[in-house]
Amino acid sequence: MPSRHFGPTSCEWNPLTLALLIAVWIAAVANWPLWRALFALPENASLRGGLFVAGFAGLIAALTLALLALAAWRRAIKPAAALLLVPAAAGAHFMGTYGVVIDPSMMTNVLQTNVTETRDLLGWRLFASLLVIAALPIAWLWRVPVRRLGFGAQLGRNLGGMIAAAGVAALLLFAIFADLSATMRNHKSLRYLINPHNSFYALGVLAHQANAKPAGPPLPIGEGATLADRPAGRKPPLFLLVVGETARGDHFSLNGYARPTNPQLAGLGVVSFRDVTSCGTNTAASLPCMFSHLGREAYVSRERDQENLLDLAQRLGLAVLWLENQSGCKGVCERVPVIDASQGAPAALCSDGECLDEALLHGLDARLAALPAERRARGVLLVMHQMGSHGPAYWRRSPPDGKPFLPECETNVLQQCDRQALINAYDNSIAYTDRMLAGAISWLKQQSAFEPLMLYISDHGESLGENGLYLHGLPYAVAPREQKHPAMVVWTPSADQRQCLAAQRDAPLSHDHLFHTVAGTLGIHAAEYRPALDLLAPCRAP
Ligand SMILES: [Zn+2]
Repeated sequence: MPSRHFGPTSCEWNPLTLALLIAVWIAAVANWPLWRALFALPENASLRGGLFVAGFAGLIAALTLALLALAAWRRAIKPAAALLLVPAAAGAHFMGTYGVVIDPSMMTNVLQTNVTETRDLLGWRLFASLLVIAALPIAWLWRVPVRRLGFGAQLGRNLGGMIAAAGVAALLLFAIFADLSATMRNHKSLRYLINPHNSFYALGVLAHQANAKPAGPPLPIGEGATLADRPAGRKPPLFLLVVGETARGDHFSLNGYARPTNPQLAGLGVVSFRDVTSCGTNTAASLPCMFSHLGREAYVSRERDQENLLDLAQRLGLAVLWLENQSGCKGVCERVPVIDASQGAPAALCSDGECLDEALLHGLDARLAALPAERRARGVLLVMHQMGSHGPAYWRRSPPDGKPFLPECETNVLQQCDRQALINAYDNSIAYTDRMLAGAISWLKQQSAFEPLMLYISDHGESLGENGLYLHGLPYAVAPREQKHPAMVVWTPSADQRQCLAAQRDAPLSHDHLFHTVAGTLGIHAAEYRPALDLLAPCRAP
């Protein structure tokens, strides 16, 4: 060994240096399927795209180093490196060869694979991947001498390395955030190519699921709840709840937006609320929370799922119907009747398996008449789940004759759009929601057997390029205002009620008010009902 001649320290490697080399190797080499996928995207075929991919690689290297710095000790660094390199090499092979991604469901498949299937997957390509990506660097690592520092000195270095790596990761994340968030949203599966973090993440999710409490039916609510007796002569309520999608309150001209996005509602005497906060920043987080009686804080920290507003209304004998025009109700409508808006919708409203929101208004008389008569006599809760302003394909959310703002951005790669064309396409989707809601109100006005009321509320907002951010779904604590302030509009035929509601137009409201406002209007008496969160409580005729 020639190094012996140079003294004990000259050729010895500090464990942290080795950690850095391993991190760079994993980012650059073991992630080749990710880089191949990213460079195959048309949006990355530019200098900006190249810089984004380079920044992404740096980000993965920095995060891996921050993790490995924990193990950067003389005796630990080599086994830790092997622990990362072997799964990384195997993962790179399966992703690169079979075009799969390693997510929890794929990991479930892997863990449930039997011996015969495993044998089919073994081959020279897997061997080559293990040799090049894992065996060669491990063999080299095992031969290099590692420097021994005192505990305090090594701890100081490792902490310094970890902090520096985290700092670099934060800087790179900031620099590439716009492209990263848009790319990950347009190509959701790419995140499961990040190697070997995908494998550890999937294993973690599966371990957590295995330890989770047994899944059972949601806890019942409204035990002992009753329906108020209706005074003689009063008609049963018909509550139309329109659940919007991705509609920002500040893009409603009813709320002071400069462009005429609400030409029809403006003439219908609706009340629009200007300071509404959403429960979440994505549909899956907001929707179940909106229909819960718990309110955001208690909902987020709940230990078991509980029944929701629809379950309660149905149990009390009201007629409940969910009309769906999106990808599903996130479990909210599981136990009540559901009809897909595409059923029987005119062909002109639907194409490529998607329908414009006016499909929700089609055949409503028949749908209402088909509900059980004894339930209708107590009252109706009709929910319409809109496609609304679902991105990134905003231009698909309005029909050719419903586009007052042109030109429109017509690509999913929002960061490459002209900003004004992007806002045009988004505003057209709001104007189309305006038209759809006006249609809903005109239908409600004909329902002479009921006391009608419409509440429209979106599930969350949207970023439209402010500070380089697009779409939605940022963690709640750091999400910008645009993503957390949805639109909310109420229509009632009573002028007195409208005037009373208008007094609360600028009050700070939230999704927490939804359950209680609907329950109060339907005459539901339940322990869960809180009058303070019932918007209409002060405005309701005794
Ligand atoms: Zn949503």
